[in-house]
Amino acid sequence: MDTFLGPFEEAVLHPVYGAIRSGLENTLCRDAGPSSPSGLSRTTLQGFCSPIQHSSFWQPDNSIRRLTNAFLYLWLSTTVSYLVLGAVLYRLNFDAAAAARDPKFRPGQVRGEISRSLVAITVMSLLTAPIVLAQAAGRARIYPLGAAPAWYEALQVVLFVAFNDTCVYWLHRLFHTPVLFRLMHKKHHQYMTPTPFSAFAFDPLEAMIMSLPIYAFSFVVPMSDAMQLLAFLAAYLWTFLLHDDSTQFHTVHHKNTNFNFGQYTTLWDRWGGTYVDADEFLSQPQYRKEKRSPRPAAASSADQYGSL
Ligand SMILES: [Zn+2]
Ligand SMILES: [Zn+2]
Repeated sequence: MDTFLGPFEEAVLHPVYGAIRSGLENTLCRDAGPSSPSGLSRTTLQGFCSPIQHSSFWQPDNSIRRLTNAFLYLWLSTTVSYLVLGAVLYRLNFDAAAAARDPKFRPGQVRGEISRSLVAITVMSLLTAPIVLAQAAGRARIYPLGAAPAWYEALQVVLFVAFNDTCVYWLHRLFHTPVLFRLMHKKHHQYMTPTPFSAFAFDPLEAMIMSLPIYAFSFVVPMSDAMQLLAFLAAYLWTFLLHDDSTQFHTVHHKNTNFNFGQYTTLWDRWGGTYVDADEFLSQPQYRKEKRSPRPAAASSADQYGSL
C-alpha cells in the first residue's frame, strides 16, 4: 500500500501544507501590528505566529507529518473507494427488491453499515499508518517488479493466497469464541442479510486485526511492488464481493455463524468441518421464502444444519 504514498504526498499533501502554512502566517503574523483587526493584542497574536512559523511539522521528513500523511492517504483512498465500490456493487450485484421483502433485512440497515464502516476505516487507517510508513521506509521485503524471475512472481501469488486464507480463517474462528464474539464480532453479525456496504462494518480493532495478514505477508516473504498492490486490491475487492449477492458462500455465514469462515478458498472450511454448499444451504424452505415472499414473513426457524 506504500506504492502511491510518495506521489500522493508530492502531488497533494505538500502543496496543501504549503497553502495552510502561508494562510496561517498571512492571517496571524501580518495581523500582529498595533491596529490588528482581530482585536487580539500584538503579544497574543505573536504567541500563535511564532510556533507556526518555526514548527518542524513543515519539514517533509517530520515524523508526525509523515504519520499524518500515511493516515490521510489510507483514510481518503479507503473511504472514497468504499463508498464508490459499495454503491456500484449495490446497484449491480445486490438484489435490493428481494432484501426489502426479507424479514432479516432491517430498515435503515445500509445507513448503519455505512456509518459503522466509516468509523472502522478511520480507526483502521490510524492504526495501519505506521505499517505503511515502515513499508515505505524499506523495512518490508518488497522489491521492484522484474527483479525476480517470472516463476517467483507467480509463486508468490499462491503463497499470498495460502498465507492470507490460513490467517483469515483462523482469526475469524478466533473472533467466534464467546468472549471475542460478544466484544467485537457480533457487531458485524447483526447483519443477517449483508449488503456490499457490510464490507467494513466491523468493530474498528477487529477490522484492523483482520487486515493485518495482507501487510504481514510482505514483511515475511519477498514480494514485488506490483504484486503487493495487486494482492491488496484483490483482497479489498473480494471483501465486497463476499457481501453482495455475487457469491453466496459468505452469505451462508451471516445466516448460520457455524459455517463458511474462509475468504478466498473453501479449503480450510472443508478441512475444519465448517463447510456447507451455499446453494444447498440456501435452498432450505425458510431461505427460499425470504427471497420470494411478497410480505415480511415470520422470523425464520433454525435451519436444518443446526450448530457444530
Ligand atoms: Zn461478513
Ligand atoms: Zn463471522
